[in-house]
Amino acid sequence: EVIIKAMEVKKEYLTGKNKTLAINNISFDVFKGEKLAITGPSGCGKTTLLNILGLIVKPTSGNIIIDSKEISSFKERERARYRNKYFGYIVQDFALIEEFTVYENIEIPLLYTSEKVPRSRRRKLISELLTQVGLEVKINEKVKNLSGGQRQRVAIARAIVNDPEIILADEPTGSLDSKTGEEIMTILDNLVQLGKTLILITHDNGLAQSCDRQIKLLDGKITEII
Ligand code: ADP
Ligand code: ADP
Repeated sequence: EVIIKAMEVKKEYLTGKNKTLAINNISFDVFKGEKLAITGPSGCGKTTLLNILGLIVKPTSGNIIIDSKEISSFKERERARYRNKYFGYIVQDFALIEEFTVYENIEIPLLYTSEKVPRSRRRKLISELLTQVGLEVKINEKVKNLSGGQRQRVAIARAIVNDPEIILADEPTGSLDSKTGEEIMTILDNLVQLGKTLILITHDNGLAQSCDRQIKLLDGKITEII
C-alpha cells in the first residue's frame, strides 16, 4: 500500500541570481509501514527531499500524492492540515525550547490542534509518551539540563504526540554516541512495529542497511533504490 507518491519532483532554490537544482526530477513511492532510508553525500538534496515529502517545502514542479490526494492542488490551509495530520518531524538540531520543561515542549503541538485537547487529557497523553520513550522521570526538567540522547527522546515524543502516520527524521542518531543512537533507533523501530511509516536521513551505513529500503541520492537524483 502506497502512502506517499513523489512524481517528477523538482526543486530549484534561487538565491540572488544563483540557481541551485537541489532535487532533479525524482519519482518514487513510499509504502505504508516501511522503514525507508535516504542516503548520499552532503549537499545531494536529502533534507530538501524530506522537507518536500513532509509538505514543508513546495517543489518547483512535480507532485506529491498522499493517501491518493494531489497536494499541488491544495491551498495553503489544506496543505497545513495534511502536514499536521500525517507527519511527525524530528529535525536535526532537535528544535526544542531550552527554557521550557520536557512537558511544556511536548505539549506545544497539542495547543495548536483544531480541536482543543483538555488539560487532563494532555497530562495523561504526555506522561504515556514519556514512558514510551523512557524519559518519564524528567517530565518537569528544563530541556537545557538534558543530554543529547534525552533531548532526542523529547523530540520524538513531541513528533508523535498527534499520532501521525508518518515519521520523518533528519539524522536521528547523527549527533549521538553509538550506544545512545541505538537506544533512539529502538524507540523508532518500536513505532514502525506499531504500524508507523519511518523515513530517515542517515550517514550511518549500518543504520541504512537495517532499513527496509534505501534511496541513494547524488546531485539531486536517485542513483539507486535498494
Ligand atoms: P543535504 O541534506 O543532502 O545536505 P540539502 O537538501 O540540504 O542537501 O541541500 C541540497 C542543495 O540545495 C545544496 O546545494 C544546498 O546548498 C542547497 N540548499 C538547501 N537549502 C537551501 C536554501 N534554503 N536556499 C538555497 N539553497 C539551498
Ligand atoms: P544538511 O546537510 O543536513 O542538509 P545543512 O547544514 O546543509 O544541513 O542545511 C541546514 C539548513 O540550511 C537547511 O534548512 C537548509 O535548507 C539551509 N541551507 C542549506 N544550504 C543553504 C544555502 N546554500 N542557502 C541557504 N540556505 C541553505
